[in-house]
Amino acid sequence: MNNKELEYCNICGTKLVTFVDGHCCGLKCPKCNEIIAVTTYDDLSSEDKKIYPLILTHNIYTAKKAYILAKTINCDVNIATQLLRQENVKAFEGIATQLKKIKLVFDENEINYEIPEFPYK
Ligand SMILES: [Zn+2]
Repeated sequence: MNNKELEYCNICGTKLVTFVDGHCCGLKCPKCNEIIAVTTYDDLSSEDKKIYPLILTHNIYTAKKAYILAKTINCDVNIATQLLRQENVKAFEGIATQLKKIKLVFDENEINYEIPEFPYK
């Protein structure tokens, strides 16, 4: 998984565009209108445009985790499976608001990760 893959629609391969809609912003595909990632402008983290890496650590593979991971970081299930089977592998890079949303899902589903120097809960 690298950064380039995150910029393109996993359905049609079109380059994703950012959008802002009221209090939400995120990435979507201009061709199939698929919304890839949505975040809300809810606090100071929305002002933080720094890119943080998300590192997966010490995960025990299950099919459910692979499915959730794939859905959350928008990648193929096979890629998610490979990521879960590695130690300390970068699975995603993004701004604070994207990562906060991912954190919620990972915490809920016991997917272990680290975000070095991430200052938000
Ligand atoms: Zn598309």
